[in-house]
Amino acid sequence: MHKLALGIDIGGTNTTFGVVNDRGDSVFEHTTSTRSHDTPEQLVDFIYQTLSKYTLLDQLCGIGIGVPNGNFYTGNMEYAPNVHWQGIVPFRSIFAEKFQTTVILTNDANAAAMGELQFGAAVGMQHFVLITIGTGIGSGIVENGRIVYGHNGMAGEYGHLCVVPNGRLCACGRRGCLEAYASCTGMVRSVQELDSQHKKTSVLSTIEHPNSKDIVEAYKHNDTFATEIIDFTVHMLGNALADCLCFSDPQAFILFGGYARADIPLTDMLLYHMNKAALKVYQNKADILISPLHDKNAAVLGAATLVFN
Ligand SMILES: [Zn+2]
Repeated sequence: MHKLALGIDIGGTNTTFGVVNDRGDSVFEHTTSTRSHDTPEQLVDFIYQTLSKYTLLDQLCGIGIGVPNGNFYTGNMEYAPNVHWQGIVPFRSIFAEKFQTTVILTNDANAAAMGELQFGAAVGMQHFVLITIGTGIGSGIVENGRIVYGHNGMAGEYGHLCVVPNGRLCACGRRGCLEAYASCTGMVRSVQELDSQHKKTSVLSTIEHPNSKDIVEAYKHNDTFATEIIDFTVHMLGNALADCLCFSDPQAFILFGGYARADIPLTDMLLYHMNKAALKVYQNKADILISPLHDKNAAVLGAATLVFN
């Protein structure tokens, strides 16, 4: 009999939760719209009721949660810019009270990094950085096989690296953050904000509210403006990866989510920009890999893994 844990990935748009065994097999998974729950307590109730319906509650040995701006030490979600609940949300204690079991909470990208380490592209790696691409950009830094939490439990807010001084306003309130350019929402902003003579003739100008999938699709059909947007986005991310080399010297970057799952030559383009911008001692040393866990949800797996470890 394998042990079962509940892994939860709370995002600004969707929350996915799954019951996972200690071999990484998902035995149950469900997704709900985060914004459809007015309060954090309502979301917790919803998850409890769903598991109760499938008689899974008694079988859990614990709960692992990945959230944006999650603090491993306090168990709180703190001022997550892309989530509709503002301020500090004490998710660990809310879940512990409702489920009466052990609860571990961390940053969503840290949870995804745990998933990669146990079951994905980072099996056997000691030093790597997991980059999540979605509404925002996050990162989980692993050194010597362990997550780097930092002094206050908040290490790895890589999406808020300032890449353009006084640049685009970010959801965090600062200007010029990487995620304002290289996240999926950043890519969509480029449709409006990037100057190009090819804008008017682009298929994107015929779509009312193009999303990142529309941009990728247009790119695949050789739309010139879409190609400029992808080039710009990848250039920004590649430069930022080069900077990241300077402080963590990883064996690899693993990309998860958003346009990382699109069928485009992303790793080749990123390697080109990263190595071009990197300090000489780092050039051509770090790999860039796409997560093999897109169908399994690395963050849910990783959050559950927190319980087994
Ligand atoms: Zn920011």
